[in-house]
Amino acid sequence: EKPTVVITGTSSGVGLYASKAFVQRGWFVVMACRDLMKTRKAAQSVGIPEDSYTVLHIDLGSLDSVRRFVQDFRKTGRPLDALVCNAAIYMPLLKEPLWSLDGYELTMTTNHLGHFLLCNLLLDDMKKSPRDDKRMVILGTVTHNPDELGGKIPPRPDLGDLDGFAQGFKAPVTMADGKKFEPVKAYKDSKVCNVLTMRELHRRYHESTGITFTSLYPGCVADTPLFRNHYPLFQKLFPWFQKNITGGYVSQELAGERVAAVVIDSEFRQSGAYWSWGNRQKKDGKFFVQRVSRQARDDEKGEKMWDFSARLVGLA
Ligand code: NDP
Repeated sequence: EKPTVVITGTSSGVGLYASKAFVQRGWFVVMACRDLMKTRKAAQSVGIPEDSYTVLHIDLGSLDSVRRFVQDFRKTGRPLDALVCNAAIYMPLLKEPLWSLDGYELTMTTNHLGHFLLCNLLLDDMKKSPRDDKRMVILGTVTHNPDELGGKIPPRPDLGDLDGFAQGFKAPVTMADGKKFEPVKAYKDSKVCNVLTMRELHRRYHESTGITFTSLYPGCVADTPLFRNHYPLFQKLFPWFQKNITGGYVSQELAGERVAAVVIDSEFRQSGAYWSWGNRQKKDGKFFVQRVSRQARDDEKGEKMWDFSARLVGLA
C-alpha cells in the first residue's frame, strides 16, 4: 500500500505543489484544508489524479476543528506515515488584531497553536503506523532568523519572556511578548514558535518513537498567495525583486519538491534538523543543516513555550 502523508493548507502555494510532488513519488495525500471546493479545484488544476488524494476539513483557527479533523482522519483507517504542517496566514496590513474562535490572536493560532495541537494529537497515530521511517515536518522561514540577511528587516521576531502566553493570549493580549500588536512581527513570532515546537518534539519524542522531526526553509516562494494581503504593488514587485536582486526566488514547484524530499529522501532523515538551500539560489545548490536563530535554539524558551501552548490548547 502507498504511504500516507497529511498536509495542512494545500489549496495553494507550497502545500499544493508539495501534494503534487508526493503523488508523483507514489504517496497518498490527505489534504487538510478549510475550503474543500477550492482545494479540489486547485488539485485538479495542477493535474493531481483524483484517486491519489482525499480532502478533509480543518480550520486551524479553531481548536475544536483541529480535534474534529483528527477524528475524521482516524475514520479513514489509513496509517499516518508523515505530517507536514504547512498552512499559514500572513496579514501585514492589519491595523487591529483578528481573533480565533477560542479568543486567541489569529496569526499565532493558525500558524502555531493549531499546528501544536495537531502534532500532539497525531503523535499517537504516527506511533501506530508500521512504517519504519516516519517524519513530522513544520515549515519554517528565513524571516524567523535575524542572523540571516533575509531576517534582518524589522520588525524582528521577539518572544520576550513569553508574557503574552503567560497572560493567556486573549484580548487585550495580542502578542507573544505581551506588547503592542504588530502583524508582521506576529507572523515572525509564530514561525519562531514553529521552529521551537519542532525542536521540542525532537527532544521529547525522537528517541522513544523513532520519528524524525524537522523544519525547512524552502526558499523565497515570492508568488504564492501568502502575500495576498499585502499592497498590490508589493505583490507585483516582490517576485521581481527576489528573482533579480536578491536571487532568493524559488518556484512553487521547486518548493513543493523540497518539502516532499525532506519527508521522503534518506539524506533528510536527521531529527532536529532545520534544512535550507541558502538564501541565494545557486544552480545545483546543495541543501544543508542551517543553524536556527538564538531564540529558536533556546531550549529553556522552547520548554516554556511548550508548556504555555499545551495549556492554551487544552492539553494540560
Ligand atoms: P499560501 O497562502 O499559498 O498557502 C497557505 C495555505 O494555508 C492555504 O492553503 C490556506 O488556505 C491555508 N490556510 C490559511 N489559514 C488556514 C486555516 N485557518 N485553516 C486551514 N488552512 C488555512 O502560502 P505559501 O504556500 O506561501 O505558504 C505555505 C508555508 O510556507 C507557510 O507555512 C509559510 O510560512 C511557508 N513559507 C513560505 C514562503 C514564501 O516565500 N511563500 C517562504 C518561507 C516559508 P485558504 O486557501 O483557505 O486560505
